Amino acid sequence: MIEPFRCPLCGGTQSRPYKTLRDRIAGTTDATFQLVECADCRLLRLHPQPSAEVLDAAYPDDYAPFNRPGLSGRAKRLLERKGVRDIWDYLQPPRAILDVGCAGGELLDLIRRAGNDDVYGLEPDSYAAGLARQRGLDVTEGYLETAGFANQRFQTVLLDHVLEHVDDPDLFMAEVRSVLSGGGAVVIWLPNVASDAARLLGSYWMGYDAPRHLTTFSVETLARLLDKHGFRIVHVEHEQSGVEWAWGVRLWCRARLPALEPWLARLHALAILAWTPLGIVAARRKRSGRVRVIAVKRPDPDTANPVTYVEAQPKT
Ligand SMILES: [Zn+2]
Repeated sequence: MIEPFRCPLCGGTQSRPYKTLRDRIAGTTDATFQLVECADCRLLRLHPQPSAEVLDAAYPDDYAPFNRPGLSGRAKRLLERKGVRDIWDYLQPPRAILDVGCAGGELLDLIRRAGNDDVYGLEPDSYAAGLARQRGLDVTEGYLETAGFANQRFQTVLLDHVLEHVDDPDLFMAEVRSVLSGGGAVVIWLPNVASDAARLLGSYWMGYDAPRHLTTFSVETLARLLDKHGFRIVHVEHEQSGVEWAWGVRLWCRARLPALEPWLARLHALAILAWTPLGIVAARRKRSGRVRVIAVKRPDPDTANPVTYVEAQPKT
């Protein structure tokens, strides 16, 4: 029996079909997945949610975030290094940093090299957690809800393409709030469905990534979730990237002209570069399909949880 729909953001029980999706990126199943829109707040969810078996199969060991081979991996690392500099105010000592869903620990490693070694990772996949430990990082294997971190243990929580994967984003954000000290920050990278790429690429937009993305956010629905959990957004960055367009064309060809796949795979890094002007236009319009949102925890009303860090704007 299918569980009735219940929106984790607004509690609404009415939904309408939005898109029918397939696992186009990893191809771990031939099944189709229904993305529905909450009739009240317009949050997008897979409904019904994929089974545990489907999700287990959907994260193979060569799942991209666990490994970073090749030219595009190195280019990505350069970009991430710049990204760390851009938000250094939220990463620098004496902040204790928790990266939830840290995968192989790339981002934490960059932060450590940049000058803060008070960094911790949390990762449910044992293979990925092992990779991160090989870098000498302090990584807990598991989920935030059960990891047992002390209240207000951290000053910054990083969610790098994680929120769209979690089972219940409402419960999850409550946990994020509890491990953050007053005035602490959460930095969220995620796909934005209110984007040119999502509109023009349709079900070939990589941001849908069924069945791994259980929830699909827009900046607006994310803002609502953050507000609900006592966070105030201080910065929204629209990424200037050709990656969604390169993937969109590649996924379309995979479905319609599969003979081209080996060529497109070889030219992928070049394609990302070639599509970057479109990414720049989308970012200028504040319609990028990839965003980075920084939000600060409002202090609890009681004085037991005072603001310990002064907010700073990221360097531009
Ligand atoms: Zn809703």
